[in-house]
Amino acid sequence: DKSTLIAHENVPPLALHPEAGGKKNLSVISHQLDTNPLEEDKPRLVIVGSGWGAVSVLKTLDRDQYNITVISENNYFLFTPLLPSATVGTLELRSLLEPIRKIAARVGAHFLEGKAVDLDLENKMVEVQQMVNNGTGTIGERFYVPYDKLVVAVGATSITHGVEGLENTVQLKTIRDAINIRRKIMDNVELASLPTVTPEERKKLLSFVVCGGGPTGIEFAAELSDWIEEDFVKWFPKSMRPDISITVIQSRDHILNTFDSEISCYAEERFKRKKINVVTNARVVRIEKDKVVYKSKVATGDSGEPEISEIPYSLCLWSTGIAMTPFAQNIAEQLEDQKHSRVLVTDEYLRVKGIPDQSIYALGDCASIQNPKLVERIMDIFSRADKNGDGMLSLDEFADVVKHVSRRYPLTKQHLGRLVDTFEAYDKDKNGLLDMEEMHTLLHDVDNKMTNLPATAQVAAQQGSYLGKYLNVLSNKNDDQGKTARAVLPFDYHHLGTLAYLGNTAVGEFNTGTPGGFKMLGGLWALYLWRSVYWSEQVSLRTRLNLSIDWSKTALFGRDISAV
Ligand code: FAD
Repeated sequence: DKSTLIAHENVPPLALHPEAGGKKNLSVISHQLDTNPLEEDKPRLVIVGSGWGAVSVLKTLDRDQYNITVISENNYFLFTPLLPSATVGTLELRSLLEPIRKIAARVGAHFLEGKAVDLDLENKMVEVQQMVNNGTGTIGERFYVPYDKLVVAVGATSITHGVEGLENTVQLKTIRDAINIRRKIMDNVELASLPTVTPEERKKLLSFVVCGGGPTGIEFAAELSDWIEEDFVKWFPKSMRPDISITVIQSRDHILNTFDSEISCYAEERFKRKKINVVTNARVVRIEKDKVVYKSKVATGDSGEPEISEIPYSLCLWSTGIAMTPFAQNIAEQLEDQKHSRVLVTDEYLRVKGIPDQSIYALGDCASIQNPKLVERIMDIFSRADKNGDGMLSLDEFADVVKHVSRRYPLTKQHLGRLVDTFEAYDKDKNGLLDMEEMHTLLHDVDNKMTNLPATAQVAAQQGSYLGKYLNVLSNKNDDQGKTARAVLPFDYHHLGTLAYLGNTAVGEFNTGTPGGFKMLGGLWALYLWRSVYWSEQVSLRTRLNLSIDWSKTALFGRDISAV
């Protein structure tokens, strides 16, 4: 009996469509709030996610254009760039969260807390599961939410690289992860302070390992080191200090390897001074309950074979990159061309490829733009750079083009250097000139680097505000097939810069429009600049105030060391 499926006590009856629908015959929630009843003349826009991408869409959408429903596992927006600071109590968890209902209310959207688990493409419905956790996973009841337009902004999960034993590690992606990490650190140091613990056990309890030398791993290591230097040494037995260790295992030859090499080297030098061990060129083989096993990528030792080493640990953070969420994967698997894709591939208007009526959009960490016209557009810039019109580009003219392109794409000095190297490699007769044909081949080869935007909040936020505006135009013109799409320019990314916290200082590179941009290499002012950037990017005055209070409290009284 279909009506028995409509037994959701917490959803007002008005929300439920009279008949069940979709492939699985679940009940259908067409709209929830009686204060915002469904307006039949407006299309239903469903946004899945409440992170950077989704919030930017909500911030730019016009009110009253759509019946908007936001679905997310969490009823808050999380300010991820400051999440590492919450793992040791530099910042309080509440200061990083903004209720999504408050953001959604601005455009009259309503919110459903639930996990999108499946997509019925034929009937245009998202299958959602209630967030009821019985301790072993989500087992809530399921229902359908119909859409006319769907925005997928579900972010990403951690990549496993097929490493065994990841259940023994912690991640740092959600607020719950930060809570777990903070509690585990406190529990471990309390346990290590007991006289019943052997010296060997103490060392293990105080050993913290970070797998992955990207910004998240590095910022966590830096925060942990701050906590040790500023709080641990004050309140815990000093004799324990030599037993503490922080180790970062990185598979590449430098940490922060997406930054300019000068910044990576600065970070390594700083970590050395802070006694954080950095193991580079090493791949984690497996993670056992009490030790991390890793293998050097270069031949070391007497045998000439890559050496296998072990580090006992009490807390191991796994932060080695991102992978598709099950929901995004589910969508990709339903689309012929995307079955083996590692992200949802969209066109330059963020429309998921392979959806005939172009009703699904994807952005942020779960998506990647494939833009065949990009090469042509850059090619156009190349032809315009050919000042003397001889159909050949000199290295100087090429550098001009790269400068132009670097304003739009996140090209660091390393990348630019690589492009210039590529120039030389393609200059077959070594006369310092490339003809247009050679240039075309070069561009196709480097296309991937330029179109694969980094998985950052900056990209997700820019895409979100683009999509919000785009959806406004669509609804105004009421023509989503041909004309409007041409009237709106494709999405263009403007890279502003990248920052990373290194423990009472920060590093960063800013796009100034010149090759290499401006680099920030430590110093106290860098710390304040880092804080100001994130302070100004807050979504509300409340979180700004909270951040100011937290930073002042930490400076005056130190961090809270109670394990709750
Ligand atoms: P997210 O912001 O991750 O949002 C995804 C949303 O979807 C979440 O609300 C989630 O609950 C929800 N969701 C997921 N699956 C489902 C489902 N099946 N059903 C319903 N809801 C679902 N980037 C920077 O630019 N600068 C930084 O300094 C920086 N620091 C970072 C530090 C950390 C610790 C982390 C983890 C990331 C950091 N990033 C940073 C990266 C940045 O957070 C991501 O690139 C950004 O969050 C991507 O935005 P998004 O909207 O795609 O996904």
